[in-house]
Amino acid sequence: MLIKATFNPNKNPKYSASFFRWLRGHSIKELVVMRARSGAIHIGVMRDQEYYCKSIISIFRGYYGYTVNPLRPISKERFDTSTNITDWFWSNYEQIGMCVVDPDHKGHFLYSGKQYTIDQTEDRRTCNWCGDKFKMVETEKTIINRGWVKI
Ligand SMILES: [Zn+2]
Repeated sequence: MLIKATFNPNKNPKYSASFFRWLRGHSIKELVVMRARSGAIHIGVMRDQEYYCKSIISIFRGYYGYTVNPLRPISKERFDTSTNITDWFWSNYEQIGMCVVDPDHKGHFLYSGKQYTIDQTEDRRTCNWCGDKFKMVETEKTIINRGWVKI
């Protein structure tokens, strides 16, 4: 059984503080989590045969206002091509927190200052939330600019 208190960021910083606040206004049992074909994850409720939702990353980032940016229905086509991942989402969010929506660790969430532990060598780090390990690499990039130059 899902209990909101489990996701308290004061107990574990892997949980999003803004998502925790957002959850106060919703019943976890009614929430449906969908993954769009694009990979974007939405959370919301089914109401009158429509899915009213919001991007979960925007909630993690703190853009969750009720009046300014409330839940909105998504198009039928987008809903039809989405996959219901509600059970997967909650069990994984419980285990690895915000990393559930950012497996490549590219995002920058609010309150994520203590996400990594950096090794003494300073070229390796470990995610404190999911345990993934990373190494620092340098890559060379060639940039070719093309444009008109007066001759
Ligand atoms: Zn992680």
